[in-house]
Amino acid sequence: MAANECLFCKIVLGDVPADIVHEDDQVLAFRDINPRAPIHILIIPKQHLESLASVADENRDLMGHMMLTTKKIARDEGLSQSGYRTVINIGADGGQTVNHLHLHLLGGRALRWPPG
Ligand code: 5GP
Ligand code: ZN
Repeated sequence: MAANECLFCKIVLGDVPADIVHEDDQVLAFRDINPRAPIHILIIPKQHLESLASVADENRDLMGHMMLTTKKIARDEGLSQSGYRTVINIGADGGQTVNHLHLHLLGGRALRWPPG
């Protein structure tokens, strides 16, 4: 998919509105439109990467930054003590529906395991 047709690239560009909770030069974080938990935030790279399967060695710093940013957002959302979950869905069997890499941050209730 070309980046200019990608929903999450449009959110990065501001062409599609979103409830943004964090932005810096590398990543954007915004609330999921269909939350599966009281807190459900998506953390995405600003650059278009289709999925974790598309990530290369040159993206090492970006991936580390995404994880550390997720931890900070979880802390800011008050989840550090109660706990939370991070999920990256990849491809068809992984349940990925938007083909721009995104990390789900879910919290605010006890989450079941394993996922369906
Ligand atoms: P996936 O199923 O690909 O792992 O997750 C995609 C997520 O994007 C879903 O949880 C879905 O609710 C969310 N989503 C889809 N379209 C939009 C949108 O336009 N805005 C926001 N904020 N979230 C979206
Ligand atoms: Zn994209």
